Amino acid sequence: MKAQEQWQCISGCGACCRLDPALRGEALEALDPEQQLTYLAMVGADGWCIHFDTGSRRCRIYAQRPDFCRVDNLLGLFSAGGCGGGAETPAAAGDNPDSPHSNNLEQHGCLDELAIACCRQQIRSEWGGRGKVMRRFNRSVRHAVRHVIRHQR
Ligand code: SF4
Ligand code: SF4
Repeated sequence: MKAQEQWQCISGCGACCRLDPALRGEALEALDPEQQLTYLAMVGADGWCIHFDTGSRRCRIYAQRPDFCRVDNLLGLFSAGGCGGGAETPAAAGDNPDSPHSNNLEQHGCLDELAIACCRQQIRSEWGGRGKVMRRFNRSVRHAVRHVIRHQR
């Protein structure tokens, strides 16, 4: 039986920080009206979040990023169908060098599969399906499974 992969956010990605409403209609709909206003105000002319540093692929306001960029809310959006049916990833999880999302999500295994599918779709769309970011993401979610298995023994 194939081991279940475990969702991890990786550094140097930020694919979900491309907020272009034309690409994220479902994600936008999953937000409340106030969040939608905040979201729309963050969309830059190129479709990326105005707070995303496309060079370093980091969030420039990480500590102050909106609630819908934070992992606990991300979980709600995942389950709300923001990425349902392999459609679109919900609002940005945000890129950060320490990837703190991963530990927080370990307790939400039921959402791993959906979250991983959403990230893969985002990464494929922004960085390519066979690029370095996708390979790093795949290694990360598989490594997370091995890590858990080791600690269960
Ligand atoms: S697409 Fe996934 S891995 Fe990439 S920054 Fe967003 S949550 Fe993290
Ligand atoms: S995590 Fe930061 S860069 Fe990404 S969408 Fe949120 S505010 Fe913008």
